Parts: sequence; C-alpha cells; structure tokens
Amino acid sequence: MSRLLLAANWKMHLDLTTAQELTSEVASMLNAEAVSAPVVLCAPAPMLQAVAHLAKEHQGLHVGGQNLHAEKQGAFTGEISGEMIRSVGARYVIVGHSERRQYFGEDDALLARKVSRALDAGLTPIFCLGETLAEREAGQTEAVAERQLRGGLYHLSAADVAQVVIAYEPVWAIGTGKTASPEQAQAVHAFLRGLLTQQYGAAVAEGLSLLYGGSVKGSNAGELFAQADIDGGLVGGASLQSREFVTIAKALK
Ligand code: PEP
Repeated sequence: MSRLLLAANWKMHLDLTTAQELTSEVASMLNAEAVSAPVVLCAPAPMLQAVAHLAKEHQGLHVGGQNLHAEKQGAFTGEISGEMIRSVGARYVIVGHSERRQYFGEDDALLARKVSRALDAGLTPIFCLGETLAEREAGQTEAVAERQLRGGLYHLSAADVAQVVIAYEPVWAIGTGKTASPEQAQAVHAFLRGLLTQQYGAAVAEGLSLLYGGSVKGSNAGELFAQADIDGGLVGGASLQSREFVTIAKALK
C-alpha cells in the first residue's frame, strides 16, 4: 500500500462557515487536479461532522481530530473521546502535537495511552515528535526523536504500530517560516525508519507513513516529498488556504 499522505492541521482557526467553505474548495480542487493520494483535514472538534460530510465530495479526502482524551468516557468535563471523534465520521486524530506537549504538558506516558485509545476507537493516530531549537543546537535531535518514538509507540504490537502515521515536526520549524532542509528532514526520517526496523522489522517499518511538518508550503513541498523517507506532510498555516494546500497535495508523488 502507498505510504503517501497529506494532513492539514487547522489548529484553533476558522468557524463553521469558513471551515465548510475551505472543505468544499479543497474537495473540488483535489477533484479538478485528480489528486489520488489520501488527504486528511484535521479540524476543530465542533466542525468535524460538517467537514466530514463535505469531505465526501472527494474520494480521497478524510477528516481527523486534533486531540483526544486518554480515557474512553467519563466525568472529564470539556474533553472529547476517540469514540466521539469516530462517531462523526473522522478516521484520524493527531496525537502529541508539540503544542499539546508544550502548552498542555502532555508527556510520553500520556501520549502512549492516547495512541492506544485512538486505535481502540478505530482512529488512525498521527503521532507527532520532534526536537526544539535548543535540543538541535545541543546535538540532541536523534536522542529526542528516539525518546519520543519509544515513549509514545513502543508499547504497541507490530500489528498496531502498522496502523499509526508518524509526523516528524521539528518544533523550531512549526509556524516560524523556517523549514528543515530536505536533507535535515530526510536524515531524521531515515533515522526513525531505522529504529522502527530494529524494533518491528523491515516489513512494518517500510510500510509506515512518515510525514514531515514544519512550514511546508507549495514552494518547498516538492523537494521535501522527493526525499526517500518523506512520505508526505502535516501542514499548519498553509492548510488554511485552499490553493496553497492543494498545490502541496499535488507535490505528493
Ligand atoms: C503544524 O501545526 O503541525 C505545522 C506543521 O504548522 P506549520 O505548517 O504552520 O509550520
């Protein structure tokens, strides 16, 4: 099966009307451009159902949440479960975005539980990891990536990990306009695939989608996606503009 995938992270942007407009525009442009790789719109929870409905206009367009609670249900006022996300037509959920790690104190142990919860709910987790600028400058890029990979995913069986999408998102490149060079990104992706090969075997590791995220735009997507171990992207800012986002989708080989 192809590893190609593009995911949009709308974060806390848009409202119902603008989310519907953006979904319809993206769906019709993907149709017009005959994009065949799967594309996922990770929308704010209140808009998921409406976005999932409109996403049906393009066959390969799917919907995802941006976070889920680690428990299945219960007295957790204001929280959202994987089952809730699945029940409104979403198939994916972002887990461990750096903004969740940084602003909401989500650590590896909690994220490991969320990954399992997502799988149990029938969702594909898009599991994010990546180093800060200080960590990169201290030469800790690989150590951080390995710690987050182990902490978030290594409790899974090979069959379960095969259902996960991994997004390498260097924190210093998210929303900053600074993109990792294709070579920098490829080096971390190859390192991650090597670790996954050691842990789960080549067949599993070769089948996993490893996305790059961090200021991906129409103008840099092609060279990033041309790298051997970069299977697509997780896109924040540029996903809020339909034409720019579909230009990125067209760069998926
Ligand atoms: C993100 O939010 O995951 C992201 C990569 O954002 P941006 O594309 O804006 O850097």
